[in-house]
Amino acid sequence: MKVAVIGAGWGGMAAAVRAAQAGHGVTVFEASRTPGGRARAVAATLSDGRPVVLDNGQHILVGAYAQCLGLMRTVGVRPEEALLRLPLTLVFPDGTGLRLPDAPPPWDALMGIARARGWSACERLALLARAARWRLAGFRCAPGASVAELCAGLPPRLLDGFIEPLCVSALNTPARQACGQTFLRVLHDSLFSGRGGSHLLLPRTDLGALFPEPAAQWLRARGHAVHLGRRVQSLARDGAGWRVDDEPFHAVLLSTGSAEAARLVAGAATPAAEHTGLQAWAATAQALRFGAIATVYTEQSGAHGALLPLPMLALHHRGGRPAQFVFDRARLDGTAGLLAFVVSAFEGERARLEREVLAQATEDLRLPDLRVVQTVVEKRATFACTPALARPPRAIAPGLQACGDYVAGPYPATLEGAVLHGMAAAQNVI
Ligand SMILES: Cc1cc2nc3c(=O)[nH]c(=O)nc-3n(C[C@H](O)[C@H](O)[C@H](O)COP(=O)(O)OP(=O)(O)OC[C@H]3O[C@@H](n4cnc5c(N)ncnc54)[C@H](O)[C@@H]3O)c2cc1C
Repeated sequence: MKVAVIGAGWGGMAAAVRAAQAGHGVTVFEASRTPGGRARAVAATLSDGRPVVLDNGQHILVGAYAQCLGLMRTVGVRPEEALLRLPLTLVFPDGTGLRLPDAPPPWDALMGIARARGWSACERLALLARAARWRLAGFRCAPGASVAELCAGLPPRLLDGFIEPLCVSALNTPARQACGQTFLRVLHDSLFSGRGGSHLLLPRTDLGALFPEPAAQWLRARGHAVHLGRRVQSLARDGAGWRVDDEPFHAVLLSTGSAEAARLVAGAATPAAEHTGLQAWAATAQALRFGAIATVYTEQSGAHGALLPLPMLALHHRGGRPAQFVFDRARLDGTAGLLAFVVSAFEGERARLEREVLAQATEDLRLPDLRVVQTVVEKRATFACTPALARPPRAIAPGLQACGDYVAGPYPATLEGAVLHGMAAAQNVI
C-alpha cells in the first residue's frame, strides 16, 4: 500500500521504518529541514569559533526503552556506542542522593535506597515501605490521584530530593499536578522490566544522529521518499483512501504534534457521516495543555576536560535556582567545558533564566566563570501529564491513524511512547 507519514519526529520515523518493513511504499512529509521533531540536533558555535552540534534539549533514555533501542539497531545505530549506560543515579553536587547498584530488580532499588547518602534511617524505611505498598497494590492507584497525593506523608527531604526531581524529569509536570497512575507505571516499567531497565542511557551523539537521520537514510536507501521542508497543508478523504495535499494515499499515519494533527483532522471533517468522529478527535487533541522545557548550554573557555564528577548531577531546584539537572557533555561526546542545564516545567523569561542558571552554577557547582552558549526553550515540549487526562486514540478513521507521544496510552510524553505509537500505527495499516 502507498502510505503517507506526516511528521518526521521519533514517532513518525518509527512508523515509517515499520511500515517499510511491512512491505508498504512510504512517503514521509516533514515541515522542518531536519528530522527529529522535539528530539533533534541544533547547530551552535562555541566562543572560540568552534562549531558544535547541540540538541534542542538534553534527553535521557532508560534501559526499558526497548522499542527505541531495537529501532536504532534496525537503522544501523549501535546503542552500545551511541549511548552511555549507567545504573540509575540521582546524586547532588554534595554527593548525597541515590545510586542504584548494577543488580537485578528488585535488589538494585532495595540496595540503592538502603545505601542512599544523606537520608536518615527513618527516611529510607519510609521510602521502602511506600515502595512495598505500591508493589502490593500492583502499581495502581485511584485514577484521579496526583503524584503529591500518592506520596503524601513521605518525609519532606524525600519529596524534595527524590520524588519531585523524578516526577518532573519523567512527566515534565510538578508532583502536585502530575498523574499518580502514570508515575507508578513509569516506576514499574523502569524498575521491574528486567535487569538494566532502570539504567540511564545518555546520548553520546546528537539526537539527530541517534535515530531520525539514520532512519531517513535507511528509508531512502530502500527507495522510500523522505521530503524535508514540506509542511502538509491539508488532509482529505479520497474514496477508501486519503489525499495529503493533492497526492492520493491508501493510508495516512499522522505523526505531527497534537495541535497540528487537530488542525489537519478538523479540516478533513467535511462528509456528514464522519464529521462528528473527526471533530471529536480533533477537539480532544486540541484540548491538551503543554509544559515547556528549557536547556541552557554553558561553556567554560579554556577547559580541557570534564567539569563535573559525573556525566549528570541532580540540582536542588528552589526559588531563583531553576535547573533540576546538569549534564557534562565532556563526559558524553567529549566537548570539554560544555554543560547542559535542564529546566523542566519551565515558566518565565529567557534572560532571567540564564542569569539564574549562572548563579546556580556558581553557588551549587562552584563554577563562577561559565558563559551561556545557547538557550533552547521548547514551549510545547510535552503535554501536561495530569490525572485522568483524556488523550485522543490512535485510530481516527479508516486508513487514518495518529502516532505522536500524546496519543492515549500508559506513558507520559517520551521517545519510547512516541516510538511505540508509531510502531503500533504501522502494524495496523489497513
Ligand atoms: C526539551 C525536551 C526534553 C525532553 N526530554 C526527554 C527525555 O529526556 N526523555 C524522553 O524520553 N523524552 C523527552 N522529551 C520528549 C520527547 O522528545 C517527545 O516525546 C518526542 O520527541 C515526541 O516525538 P513525536 O514524534 O511524537 O513528535 P514530534 O517530535 O513533535 O514530531 C512531530 C513532527 O511533525 C512535524 N510537523 C508538524 N506539522 C507538520 C505538517 N503540517 N507537515 C509535516 N510535518 C509536520 C514537526 O516539524 C515535527 O518534526 C523531551 C522533549 C523536549 C522538547
